Amino acid sequence: MMTPLPRPLPHLRFLLVAAAASCLLTACTPPSPSPSGENPLGEVGATAARLRDRALVDNRAYEFVESLVVEVGPRFAGSEGDRRAVAWGEAKLRELGFDRVRTEPVMVPAWVRGTAVAEIVSPYPQPMVVTALGGSVATPAGGGLTAEVVRVTSLDGVDDLAEQETRGKIVFIDLRMERQKDGSGYGKTVPIRSQGAIRAAQRGAAAVLIRSVGTDTDRIAHTGAMRYSSEVTKIPAAALSNPDADTLALAIEQATRADQAVTVHLELTTRRDADVPSANVIGEILGREKPEEIVLLACHLDSWDLGQGAIDDGAGCAIVTEAARLIAQLPQRQRRTLRVVLFANEEFGLSGARAYAAAHAGEVALHVGGMEADFGAGKVWSFESRVAERQLPAIEAIAQLLAPLGIQQGGNESHGGADLSPLRPQGLPIFGLYQDGTFYFDVHHTANDTLAAVDREGLSQNVAAYATVAYCAAELEEPFSAPAEPGDH
Ligand SMILES: [Zn+2]
Repeated sequence: MMTPLPRPLPHLRFLLVAAAASCLLTACTPPSPSPSGENPLGEVGATAARLRDRALVDNRAYEFVESLVVEVGPRFAGSEGDRRAVAWGEAKLRELGFDRVRTEPVMVPAWVRGTAVAEIVSPYPQPMVVTALGGSVATPAGGGLTAEVVRVTSLDGVDDLAEQETRGKIVFIDLRMERQKDGSGYGKTVPIRSQGAIRAAQRGAAAVLIRSVGTDTDRIAHTGAMRYSSEVTKIPAAALSNPDADTLALAIEQATRADQAVTVHLELTTRRDADVPSANVIGEILGREKPEEIVLLACHLDSWDLGQGAIDDGAGCAIVTEAARLIAQLPQRQRRTLRVVLFANEEFGLSGARAYAAAHAGEVALHVGGMEADFGAGKVWSFESRVAERQLPAIEAIAQLLAPLGIQQGGNESHGGADLSPLRPQGLPIFGLYQDGTFYFDVHHTANDTLAAVDREGLSQNVAAYATVAYCAAELEEPFSAPAEPGDH
């Protein structure tokens, strides 16, 4: 369904001859530490290896995050910080020497957090650390609500409750997220955040409290987007810090043994204003030969309001921007255009991704690759793809270039990031660089998402990996294309 110019991969024997020649001339010459001359991509591989090694000793990505947290800080969609972020992003891409910089308009929702208070009222009163989930309605004006708490340990557990057990009460969904390198604990837990209010409202609850979707034991709560259904009442929804969820669970256990109930007071002063304008910020490094063909490098510029958005997604924007800037520094300009998109409002509804897909609907076929960085600054450990089967030898050759970075090759069913999700079903070829997420969810969507959470060395390794893949996709003679079967799988 795409690829305007399908061309066979150059013959392997030719590639091996080219590789041997380039090895003699360039990459095998000291001081280059990498055996890139053995790469079947020949001169492209040798250049990519030098680019990779250059990126490893580069510190500009970290400086990018420093600039963003100092000069902008929190930038939740629709906020004053969001508007300043767009201006900052546009100025930054110009300052970094991108050929073409522009913004494309995006309308974003404007939800305002207000204040959040939660406390155990009885039998033993004490305050708890809590934050409203993104999009939550407020508790009733004039003091919030006070109600008995019913605890369940899964989302399905809510459905199992009888309505007389939950009517007018606060449902507490106490499911703990597991720490995993690939972040898979998130997908298993996040439905309590996105769906909890709907399920609890279906059982007549007055509010829902969840255990924070996060792996830390700090006394900070993790926010994140939640949804409502037009079928049921919109009830207030908030997340407790992990230690407070522990305390509430123990209090309920103890009270139940004594045939008592635990009562909690909850007060959220959130509000929803009219949608406001924001923008996707776009910078391009134009291709020398096929400027109309695009390798898309994505991240999101918005952040949650609680922290500085240093890892989510300042780091990702730093990675893709610096990867493109380093490629632009090469002696010869790459064949195709590198398009960096700092997407608007990923966190609260993917507004920027949808607007981009709508505005560029006619040119998706010209996008010969997409990659998104939105998982902090942990080192990349796996390289996945989603390209036509016949192009897998080229992917294997790119994987060889990534191996010195400690990256292994994964499968060919990469999903890419959230901002690429509207383009993927339309045939966008995807390159997925999977980062080590072991510690990512300690600070994700919290007040602790600050510069202190950014791993400098990890950030440079990411830039090296993104630059390597983006350069190859932009330079190899044959453009990448998606697998033959359209759709998501
Ligand atoms: Zn993010």
